[in-house]
Order: sequence, then C-alpha cells, then structure tokens
Amino acid sequence: MSAPFKVPFQDLPLQTAQLRPELDPVIDQVLQHCGFIHGKECAEFEAAFAAFVGTRHAVGLGSGTDALQFICRGLNITGDDEVITVANSFIASAEAVSYAGAKPVLVDCRLDDYLIDVDAIAAAITPRTKAILPVHLYGQAADIDAITKLCTRHGLHLIEDAAQAHGATLRDGRACGTLGVAAGFSFYPGKNLGAFGDAGAVTTNDEKLAHQLRLLRSWGSVVKYHHDIKGYNSRLDTIQAAILSVKLRHLAAWNDARARVAGWYRENLKACAGVVLPALAPWAGRHVYHLFVVRFPAHDRDTIAQQLLAAGVQTVVHYPIPIHLQQAYAELGYQPGAFPRAEKAAKSILSLPMFPEMTRAQCDYVCEQLRAALP
Ligand SMILES: *Cc1c(COP(=O)(O)O)cnc(C)c1O
Repeated sequence: MSAPFKVPFQDLPLQTAQLRPELDPVIDQVLQHCGFIHGKECAEFEAAFAAFVGTRHAVGLGSGTDALQFICRGLNITGDDEVITVANSFIASAEAVSYAGAKPVLVDCRLDDYLIDVDAIAAAITPRTKAILPVHLYGQAADIDAITKLCTRHGLHLIEDAAQAHGATLRDGRACGTLGVAAGFSFYPGKNLGAFGDAGAVTTNDEKLAHQLRLLRSWGSVVKYHHDIKGYNSRLDTIQAAILSVKLRHLAAWNDARARVAGWYRENLKACAGVVLPALAPWAGRHVYHLFVVRFPAHDRDTIAQQLLAAGVQTVVHYPIPIHLQQAYAELGYQPGAFPRAEKAAKSILSLPMFPEMTRAQCDYVCEQLRAALP
C-alpha cells in the first residue's frame, strides 16, 4: 500500500478500496458470462466514453500507444511521412509514429506551461509532413486553434495525444479528444481514468477511420475469420471495459478534486521563492491536472526530491530525458542543445503528489516539506 509514504505520489489502493462495492458486481458479471473479448461491456463503455468526450465514435484498444499508432495507420501515414510531435512528452507519442513506419519529427516546448511550441511546429513542416501530433501534456490543452491553422494551410492531419487529458477543454469549452481527426486516450492505471492494466481508446467523428481502427485491433476482421487487412491483436478487454464504465461515472468529480488540490498547491506555494508553478495557458479551459509539475530554476531538483522522499513525500520526474536524447531515438540524430527548453525542463521539473483523494493536510504537508527542502 502507500505505507512507506506519508504522502504517496498517487493512491490507487485507496481509490480501489473505495470503489470495491461498485466494481465487484460488474467484475463478477463478466466472470459469469465469460465473454472476455468483445463482451457487451465493451460496446457499453465505448458508447459512454464517446458521449463523455463528445465524439460519434470511441474505439476501445489495448493501449494508448496502439491508439496513436492505429490512428497513423488508419490515415495511411507511413514510409517517408513525417509527423511532428513534442520532445518533452512520454516516448510513446513518438514511438506510435515509428510503429506505423513513419518518422517522428520533434520540436521544442514552451517553458512556462510545457506545451508544444507552435512557432517551432511551423518551422519543422516539410513537404513530407503528414500530421501534427500535439500532446495535451499534464492535463492541459495544447494551442489547438493555432495548430489547426497550420494544418489547414499545409493540408495536414491533426492527431491529438489525449493520454493525459480526459475531460480537459479549451477556453470556449471544446473538449480534448474532439479537436482533430482523431485522438488517442490511454487508460493506463495511473491516468485520470485508469483501468486495472493496459487499455486505451481512439475518439473520432470519422466513420471510415473508426471502421479501420476496428479492423486494425482484431487482425483486420470485423466478421470473424474474414480478414480485410493485416491487423493486430489489440482489443480492450471486456473486464477492463466493465471497470472503466464504473470509473467513468466518477471522472468529472475526480477531475474537480484534482483541480481543488492544484488550487491548494498554488495558494500555498505562490509566495515561495525558488518554486515555479505551472502556468495556465491562455487558450486552455479546464485543466485536469493529470500531473502537478513545478520547476526549480535555481536549485538542485534531485536533492529536493531526495529530501522530500526522506520526509515521506513521493515525487516523480515527467520526464527526466527528453525523447530526442533517448538512446532509442539516436537514429534521429538530434544533439544535446537541439531543444533547449525541453532540456532545461527535464533537468529542473518535479511532479508533486496529485490524486483526487488527496487531503488538504497531505497537500499542506508536501508544501511544508518542500519549503524545508529549499536551501
Ligand atoms: C500514457 C501515455 C501514452 C501511452 O499510453 P499507454 O496506454 O501507456 O500505451 C502516450 N502518450 C502520453 C502523453 C502518455 O502519457
């Protein structure tokens, strides 16, 4: 459990224990009918999630990574095609493009809200560019209107990485997951909406693309043993769908609770010299605070994290190495210094504990210990 920590980074044991009375019966139902693949709970969750996001289709898949990969495949992005995404994301944003056989092209982020820099995107567009893949990083919407303008001008697809943005919106209320041709969501257990294992989905209004995704997830067939294309084995398990339907009913309240915790952090730390709080982007509406990321421009982040750990506060760095400096992407040929803001962030950011069940006392304790850790 969370025993070794006074404040864990997140508290899935607590949330899961609270939900057991709702979860046990739906899990039991799946164990009774044993339709473990494509059971009725799958279509029920897909309909509920599409309604939550506000698209005509949601297609359940085995992971968020496959969601992004299959969007690229469904749009025939492969070979010499380039897809522009951001250097400070989780590596899956780029790997999904690689799995599709295309080339990820990375660009720098902004240093105040850590979102993809639109001027950098514009500068990276080539005749081979087929899509822009912005990440709604940490739970806040990227600058979609500006990115849409670039897509329209250059004839590109807009693919959203919404893996951290379930319920996030733009200022005018338009929801992440509805803003491009399609969006990839992850239900990895630690995400705002998390399954009990790997799971993901694509949301889209494009009927043809939705059909392609249903083919891709099941060896290229929607009619059993009739294979139209070579696909994969990447379905959303029935039992995960049943669990996700229960958890989806709590998502809005959980997002509100996360925003409340973020408010406590902001209030408590606003006058704390040496701690840079995450900026709210001018175009963003609801920030769903998948993560609450602070930055220490003038202190050693790792020393602070160690001192917090010694005081029982668990923190994480998202992410310590930008994608362009990962060994796995040596092939792209980027050198240190290529994306100075992403690199600066990687060295100085720290994700503080953030979960819906977090109490005011826990938040105050984190802030108190953080203050004590600053030299
Ligand atoms: C979690 C995540 C993914 C990958 O999702 P999985 O379900 O773990 O495959 C992709 N992009 C971002 C930004 C993520 O945070």
